Amino acid sequence: MAVRVVILGGSFGGLTTAHELRRRLGPDRAEITLIASDPRFTFIPSLPWVALGSRSLDRISFELSGPLRAQQVRFAHETVLGIDADRKVVSTDRAQHAYDFLVVATGHRSANEAVPGLGPGDGPGHSPMSPLEAEELAAAVRGLLTHPGPVVFGAAPGASCIGPAYELVFGLDHLLRLRKLRHRVPITFVTPEPFLGHLGMGGAGKIRQLLEGALEERDIGYHTSAAVRRISEGEVEVEGVGPIPSVLSVVIPPLGGVPAVAGSPGLANAKGFIGVDSRYRHVRLDGIYAVGVAAAMPPVEETPVPVNFPKTGHMTEQMAVIAARDIAARISGHDGATAELSARCVLDMGDRGVYMAVDPVRPPRNRIPTVTVGRRWRLIKVGFERAYLWSASHGHRLPTALGW
Ligand SMILES: Cc1cc2nc3c(=O)[nH]c(=O)nc-3n(C[C@H](O)[C@H](O)[C@H](O)COP(=O)(O)OP(=O)(O)OC[C@H]3O[C@@H](n4cnc5c(N)ncnc54)[C@H](O)[C@@H]3O)c2cc1C
Repeated sequence: MAVRVVILGGSFGGLTTAHELRRRLGPDRAEITLIASDPRFTFIPSLPWVALGSRSLDRISFELSGPLRAQQVRFAHETVLGIDADRKVVSTDRAQHAYDFLVVATGHRSANEAVPGLGPGDGPGHSPMSPLEAEELAAAVRGLLTHPGPVVFGAAPGASCIGPAYELVFGLDHLLRLRKLRHRVPITFVTPEPFLGHLGMGGAGKIRQLLEGALEERDIGYHTSAAVRRISEGEVEVEGVGPIPSVLSVVIPPLGGVPAVAGSPGLANAKGFIGVDSRYRHVRLDGIYAVGVAAAMPPVEETPVPVNFPKTGHMTEQMAVIAARDIAARISGHDGATAELSARCVLDMGDRGVYMAVDPVRPPRNRIPTVTVGRRWRLIKVGFERAYLWSASHGHRLPTALGW
């Protein structure tokens, strides 16, 4: 009888798990169901470009059902409400799904409530963490271009996804210079990182010096170890710094697990993330795996203002491959191989890109990190986005060594 594998989430973690499992186990050996509340895959790394007006959501997303059907993976467009690990059943708004193996790849919930005034919806602050928020931020950026004024961009205490804050601040600076409006928009960057380019991974080679130089030559003021405490109309309150005037405030929030995972008994930690071992198996519950942002990862070190471990798309895919291999191996009576996470990514600076490669992510590292800047890296990031979307929408998996 075929083993029942249920995958929760239809983004980088869920799709990669489904693809890798199907490559190893034909339909006679594994019946794979992928459940996602959003019927579309969205290429999340392009959300800063949506916010800055150079992409539409349509251009960076596609319907999941076609490519999953091509891989003989059943797609259930449903919202997960809870997981009963004792009965091995997932409950959704429409059905119950029994599983032998469960892979949780439900990503994050933005804990916007950590910073009063960080909307949208409940305050003037913005963030790019979801497609809707990115569109909403795009409208606010258009507003800034007609009514320029001072802005504050950055990340809140406990944030883990800090790269996009840099992409947004460099992208906005570039856009304003193209429009000859930069002289009317003082920009301040605030970050919980103890130094620029810490990025939750303890820094990477010369990224600190590179980012300090890049912000300084662009007249972007910055505060490190900064704790944003409140966003209100016209200003951002930063502990120890005071109120900074701001007509457009963009702050990346700390993250938590989604409610269905956080609320399922015995599944997740206090933040709603799932504790895993080196094969991404749940630390206690048999048959359950967590990959991507849903998996709990401790910070690399204690910092004066908390900064959490970054779980990038590239890392998410590595976790998914390890989990899928392990499931396939266990079905044949073995354990799958494990591997340290490495990270490769391209940080867009508006007119050029910075390529960073660290191996492993947590210092001390076997290799001196690669950090290099140039226009070609931005072109590679754009090319990667297109190639990824084309491959994934046709049911293929792109080797993801470069480009993120
Ligand atoms: C603005 C931004 C820019 C980024 N840029 C980069 C970058 O340049 N490079 C890089 O490597 N990484 C980048 N990242 C990080 C990368 O996007 C994440 O690592 C990646 O999206 C994590 O994938 P995931 O599958 O774990 O979760 P997600 O992408 O968050 O997907 C979660 C999935 O779960 C589904 N889901 C959630 N709750 C439920 C539920 N209750 N029921 C059913 N389905 C549910 C969602 O619909 C979705 O399909 C960026 C992130 C952001 C926010």
